[in-house]
Amino acid sequence: MGRRVWSRIGCDCPLCGARVAGARLCSGCETDITALPGGRSRCPRCALRLPALAPACPACLGGSWAYGRTFAAFDYTPPADALIQMLKTRLRLSMAPVLARLLAAEIRRGGGLPEGCLLVPVPASRASLRLRGMNPAGEIARSLAAELALPLARGALRRRRETPRQTSLGRRARQTGATGLFAASSRVRGRHVAVVDDVMTTGSTVQAAASALLAAGAASVTIVVAARTP
Ligand SMILES: [Zn+2]
Ligand SMILES: [Zn+2]
Repeated sequence: MGRRVWSRIGCDCPLCGARVAGARLCSGCETDITALPGGRSRCPRCALRLPALAPACPACLGGSWAYGRTFAAFDYTPPADALIQMLKTRLRLSMAPVLARLLAAEIRRGGGLPEGCLLVPVPASRASLRLRGMNPAGEIARSLAAELALPLARGALRRRRETPRQTSLGRRARQTGATGLFAASSRVRGRHVAVVDDVMTTGSTVQAAASALLAAGAASVTIVVAARTP
């Protein structure tokens, strides 16, 4: 459902139950989960919280990266992780515009996405599509496209193979397991692209997605995730 429709419906804040206008958090909950205290910021590359005044984490200053920067709205910790669970586990689709609104605010604070940037959701595995009947990343991307008035390119990434569910794998297995996971369509050639996902954990999935997009000729890749595992 579009933003305009939701904004006319009286809703409850999904975290505290306070009455709010539309699919959103109350301002108190929004500040609680998104604010970074004491002038701290997130690493522009990996979106982890940085110590005060550090420009990036040491690991992100070197290395080769397929994407330029990462936007994350909040850390994947209680109580905010419940927003992701409501979408992914309880299949509350009304969480997608809530998450998109938080993400749009974070993107605007961080200087925005390139003009005409294509929003491309990370495609779900067949197993999770069967389980949920929808792709949470796709729902977030759809709401974010409406929020930011940017084009959505749902099918621009596809899985080249199915992998075991990542939650059952260790960190190293996840990192190597994602290499070559995706292929991108030629419609991204010459375009700035933002890869949209629900949660970033090791970054291996978005790195694989970004590599595929660059290989298909994307001009640049930005990562946009609702939540970052600290
Ligand atoms: Zn609240
Ligand atoms: Zn970093």
